[in-house]
Amino acid sequence: MNDAVASGPLPLIACHECGTVQHMRALPEGGAARCARCGAMLYRQRRDSIEHTLLLTLAALILFVIANTFPFLTFELEGNADTSTLLSGVRSLYEGGMWPLAVLVLLTATVVPLVWLLSVAYVFVPLQFGRLPGGAARVFRVTELLRPWAMMEVYLLGVIVAYVKLSDLARLELGIALFAFVGLIIVMIAAEAALEPHEIWRRLGPQASVRQLGRWRGRSVVSCHNCDQLAVMPRLPARATAHCPRCGATMHRRKPNSIARTWALVVTAAILYIPANLLPVMTVVYFGRGEPDTILSGVKELIGAGMWPVALLVFFASITVPVLKLLGLTFLLITVQRRSSWRLRDRSVTYRIIEQVGRWSMVDIFMISILVALVNLGTIATIEPGVGAICFAAVVIITMFASMSFDPRLIWDAEESRDARRTPLRA
Ligand SMILES: [Zn+2]
Ligand SMILES: [Zn+2]
Repeated sequence: MNDAVASGPLPLIACHECGTVQHMRALPEGGAARCARCGAMLYRQRRDSIEHTLLLTLAALILFVIANTFPFLTFELEGNADTSTLLSGVRSLYEGGMWPLAVLVLLTATVVPLVWLLSVAYVFVPLQFGRLPGGAARVFRVTELLRPWAMMEVYLLGVIVAYVKLSDLARLELGIALFAFVGLIIVMIAAEAALEPHEIWRRLGPQASVRQLGRWRGRSVVSCHNCDQLAVMPRLPARATAHCPRCGATMHRRKPNSIARTWALVVTAAILYIPANLLPVMTVVYFGRGEPDTILSGVKELIGAGMWPVALLVFFASITVPVLKLLGLTFLLITVQRRSSWRLRDRSVTYRIIEQVGRWSMVDIFMISILVALVNLGTIATIEPGVGAICFAAVVIITMFASMSFDPRLIWDAEESRDARRTPLRA
């Protein structure tokens, strides 16, 4: 039984995907509560969540240090060897004049995962001993915001693709850092699974209750999109913003200008998708002869070499996923603008999938950064990044921002306006 839930006035939670306000109930161990209306995950019950998350985070920090100090991969060709570390891809991209890519790879594969681990440790070490660290709510809010940008598992997939691409060209040796990196990913996935955000939010301030909601009757109640807390929207002067009483995030009834912003990002990404596919993403110079590669020609090459599974994977992640994401968001935007109440639940699921899969398109960018760092043997063999890679990285990042700026609660607003009385309480 969970004390925070079992005792005191019945706590309430607003679903972050459809806005429906629901009672929070005590769950059995390992249980999860889903939204009665849209099916989104509301909260879970994990045994010793804080202790497990903390131990896994500390283990991950040790593995992180090993993964970033020792050799990652060694590339050997005609007696020449080139050893790379996790960060040498970043350096090679920077030296090749591709600093936007260098910054992106540095952030998503190293800096963000490290900041995520450190901020989790900052909040969880004192919590484990029954204390609250200073600014805990703000730090934990940042960890929640960083989560989608830590892409180490995508990076590992990039390593696998790069390995397959190079395996018949030269000899590759796996370094100790690579094994630590694989361990780090496994431990981080376990830490994320053990971490239950609502458990932390409850300790940082109780969830609003039925009694409070009764007192707020007739006033505008909003839910925090970050910690799912309910609060009364204060009467504000123009241009002022309201902040969540618990986590400090800016509170809005709906994300501001959600539709216009999402449209702008979708259109930008769709335009950039064209040069991303037409311009070369990298050039392989092999014994003085160079041939530029686009994303599609890279896939064709993999098929030509009989590497079907990897070719399919790259095709799916780099070509299919961005297109499906853009089409999916366009579909959601149009149906919301038409105030359509058609298949609300399915459209919510569509949004959930779009939000989850976008980051996997980074595989090609990571693969290029690994190839550029590894194959650096002057006239024998060199791989140089191409300008198409920058366009492609921009497509991935902009579509991620597009899905973040879309407010999924807008999908359900159509039902509310159609039949205000039958709709459950909404925030
Ligand atoms: Zn819901
Ligand atoms: Zn909040």
